[in-house]
Amino acid sequence: MPERRFRRMQYAFNSLLGEILLWILTLLMFLWAISVVMTYQVADSIANMPYDEQLANEVRGLSGLVSVRNGQVVVNFPSPAREILRADSKDRVYFQILGPDGNLLAGDKDLPMVDAPFRPDGTTVLFRDDEIVDDEVRVAYSFLPLIPDQAPVLVQVAETHQKRLGLASRIVSGVIVPQFVIVPIAVLLVYLGLSRGITPLQRLQQELHDRLPSDLEPISVQGIPFEIRPILEALNDVMARLAENLKVQRRFTADAAHQLKTPLTGLRTQTELALRENSPEAMRRGLEHVAVSAENLSRLTQQLLSLARAEAVGGGQDDFGQVDMNDLVRTVAKEWADRALERRIDLGFESEGGPLWVRGSPFMLHEMLTNLIDNAIKYTAPGGMVTVRVISDIGSCRIEFEDSGIGIPVEERQHVFERFYRVLGTETDGSGLGLAIVKEVCEFHRGSITISSPEKGEGTLVRLNIPSAATV
Ligand code: ADP
Repeated sequence: MPERRFRRMQYAFNSLLGEILLWILTLLMFLWAISVVMTYQVADSIANMPYDEQLANEVRGLSGLVSVRNGQVVVNFPSPAREILRADSKDRVYFQILGPDGNLLAGDKDLPMVDAPFRPDGTTVLFRDDEIVDDEVRVAYSFLPLIPDQAPVLVQVAETHQKRLGLASRIVSGVIVPQFVIVPIAVLLVYLGLSRGITPLQRLQQELHDRLPSDLEPISVQGIPFEIRPILEALNDVMARLAENLKVQRRFTADAAHQLKTPLTGLRTQTELALRENSPEAMRRGLEHVAVSAENLSRLTQQLLSLARAEAVGGGQDDFGQVDMNDLVRTVAKEWADRALERRIDLGFESEGGPLWVRGSPFMLHEMLTNLIDNAIKYTAPGGMVTVRVISDIGSCRIEFEDSGIGIPVEERQHVFERFYRVLGTETDGSGLGLAIVKEVCEFHRGSITISSPEKGEGTLVRLNIPSAATV
């Protein structure tokens, strides 16, 4: 049951209109309750005023009947006057005149006594609420100092609250009843106002709904309430970035298609040429060309896949885990030892020993290292040197690929990470994707990469820094 209530509340708060209405209604109800209490209090005091005045007059009238004769307090109260005093169609009326000794001179004995003020003046009429038997009454009373050195005479007139309650409830209902009409009208107006207020949102929804999936043009903020503008501007910002991303993706697809087309055309031509040969020897040479082209094509496809994988959001997360970079770099170096030997390149591996843990995808990291060692060997002439180092840095793992090859001109160093970018005049086979993959994988692992020149001699020094597993 509580769960259901919670869900219902959540539902209400998911609607902006619902939430605002709920708040306004709560506030209205709260104000209404306060206004009822206040109206009642005000009505009560208003209703008391004329009837108190009437009671006071009766006390003054009674006081006029009390006099002193021969040192004795006497009351001259003819019975018609008594009847007039008691004659009231709605309330019970009580009166009392008490002598200086507290003796009842006239009226009802049940009226409670009160203490006299310090200096009674005989004219002031006081009021209080009291009880007679079980009746709640309003009492007007006055003290008459008739005989010096003796207690004053007390004159009291009391009446029940019927007339007052009747007047007060007439005042209250006169104020409250119209509110039964006003409050629902106010709620309705608020609802209509809010509904009108969210019309631009509905228009916006329709506009977004009608859009073509390819339309990433910014949405116009014209006529949109200023409260909603920041959301729209943020949305436009996202769309602009999405459009830019889409443009890059389209260019990449076009470039990739072009890159695949060229070796495929070459492969087809080489195959046709080989097929036209008659001697097995010439055919074999032709087929060797085919094999090299097929190998290049396969490498290019592999690189395109790697790039797509590294780029995909969360790509490679499935094999994410602790990776010992020392072990991985050594494995990659071993894998390329034969190739280095083939090219008469002295491939060295330097490490401090012990494991160097990073958090990442072994597959992607392997691909990154492969591209870097491939470049180092590829762009170094036979007889040259390639050294791979794994160094433990503060909070990270540093990997260096140093070669004595042709080097990368300083002005080209920022461009070589772009997709399909190759330094002009590079004769070696390649696609221009290797370093783009390296950068993507490196950034994915929150690492950094720099290209510089070795301290001694010509060549290239590529330095990678990947945060250690403990700091990620
Ligand atoms: P690819 O090697 O397939 O052309 P890369 O993205 O790996 O593509 O490299 C981009 C360019 O950077 C290469 O074409 C090459 O000119 C240059 N380059 C990369 N690594 C080296 C290196 N170790 N030595 C010299 N030039 C390099």
